[in-house]
Amino acid sequence: MKLTENALKVLEARYLARNEKGEVIETPEQMFWRVARAIAEAEKIYDKEADVEKIAQEFYNFMTELDFLPNTPTLVNAGRPLGQLSACFVLPVGDSMEDIFDAVKYSALIHKSGGGTGFSFSRLRAKGARVRSTGGIASGPVSFMKVFNAATEAVKQGGVRRGANMGVLRCDHPDILEFITAKEDNKDITNFNISVALTDKFMKALEEDGEYELIEPSTGEVVGKLRAREVFERIAKNAWKNGEPGVIFIDRINEANVVPELGEIESTNPCGEQPLLPYESCNLGSINLANMVKDGEIDWEHLEKTVKLAVRFLDNVIDVNHYPLPEIEKMTKKTRKIGLGVMGFADMLIKLSVPYDSEEALNLADKVMEFINKKSKEASAELARVRGTFPAWKKSVWAKKGLKLRNATTTTIAPTGSISIIAGVSSGIEPVFALAFKRHILDRKDIVEVHRLFEQHARENGYYSEKLMMEVAKTGRISGIAGVPEEAKRLFVTALDIAPEWHVKMQAVFQKHTDNAVSKTINMPNSATVEDVKESYLLAYKLGCKGLTVYRDGSREEQVLNVGLTE
Ligand code: ADP
Repeated sequence: MKLTENALKVLEARYLARNEKGEVIETPEQMFWRVARAIAEAEKIYDKEADVEKIAQEFYNFMTELDFLPNTPTLVNAGRPLGQLSACFVLPVGDSMEDIFDAVKYSALIHKSGGGTGFSFSRLRAKGARVRSTGGIASGPVSFMKVFNAATEAVKQGGVRRGANMGVLRCDHPDILEFITAKEDNKDITNFNISVALTDKFMKALEEDGEYELIEPSTGEVVGKLRAREVFERIAKNAWKNGEPGVIFIDRINEANVVPELGEIESTNPCGEQPLLPYESCNLGSINLANMVKDGEIDWEHLEKTVKLAVRFLDNVIDVNHYPLPEIEKMTKKTRKIGLGVMGFADMLIKLSVPYDSEEALNLADKVMEFINKKSKEASAELARVRGTFPAWKKSVWAKKGLKLRNATTTTIAPTGSISIIAGVSSGIEPVFALAFKRHILDRKDIVEVHRLFEQHARENGYYSEKLMMEVAKTGRISGIAGVPEEAKRLFVTALDIAPEWHVKMQAVFQKHTDNAVSKTINMPNSATVEDVKESYLLAYKLGCKGLTVYRDGSREEQVLNVGLTE
């Protein structure tokens, strides 16, 4: 297998199986075979004579070629005792002590198994509202989020990673202002991403500079009004300050709910790409687009084959998955949602000599994602012919369209934070973040790690030198560096060189052909203003995005991806 040094490190630290003494007991190849074999086992449910070995071999091949990788829990747990394979869960939080603490317990079980959980706290009565049974007063959504946070802190996921949560509150909840600033001091809610659910009513009031109503969820009473522009300003200001809260356009998400009869969507998973019904879970997988280029062109045939095999793989996952709760198994198997997405998109563009912030890149994104979405539906329809439609199909929008599918949704654009490292490519649909950075190695001289395609380009075009690479490693970027040809500067544009509106446009193009949602960070330079943040939100709404996350460079003390720093 062609694995980078980084990939090997990540695999060894978090993915490869270990014995009781904590020693690694499998190679990466053995890991992929373990996964392939476990997922192929589902074939037997539908065909007793199925050649499980043969399909396992196909799964093994496309993973070890790094053409496709499933989400982390599948790689870690498939064929192992825990057997929990999904990354995404949404749990309901009802307005009673029992419901709240049930949700805390369920989320602990999910975190233990490697999944991430999303919750809407919108059903909880407002701070100060009456509690009838005790005659006391309620402490409100934000106070309970701290309880969820503490539980998450205590449960380290099977020793692999700490849990991640999404907390959502509707903009018409009476506690919305407290929620917007809940992460300001960033101490009590560290294991949460938070998002404000903006309604169409809110967006209309915003446009007209009007007020909108606040509704106490436990009684349905109107308890106050807020000026939309003021709330919008506060959201943007906080996001400008430290990247939170994000926003989700909740009515738009529900318009795209393919089985509205099963309930309303209130929340997404932690990184925002997967809206789900309460108790629903979803497993993700991503195609490596950097591998889909042959002789300077997109290899459509190879892409089609990969999509079809990936859909089969992800549908199988639903059957062999060990669910953390019976309710989750029941809901998940009603809709059989899967989330096929991409990684290595920016690397694909570089291989095709197309700059990320260009019309041509938007057109390519449009074509590629339209193709993947279409082929994934074809694959799901083929599966439906043999395996049957998903059980809630009759109640779904697909029935009205006469399209028999095995899966209520097929596409999601995940961040691919870890699996893109394993594949050694740019993450999700993000532009390249840094072209070179310094890596500190114990007892040795720091080494400069250079983006593979950038190094190749520099060598082929005669501008490679160690000195230049050291220079690039200072900021990760080549804008403003002498000795680099203009054409390279255009092609190797990095996240912070790209104007926010291009980030938003790219997200919107992918959203157009994605059933679920798109994980994307709208990177902004440190000099960006609160107005810039607002403009991005408005553009995202206009262009049909389901939500938005902005991040201004340097606005948080601890930044996940840091350029120019040694590890
Ligand atoms: P990966 O690359 O590890 O497969 P992604 O970065 O694509 O994962 O994230 C996909 C989803 O996996 C997230 O939206 C979230 O639901 C879940 N997830 C990611 N990181 C964590 C974590 N530390 N704990 C729990 N769930 C996580």
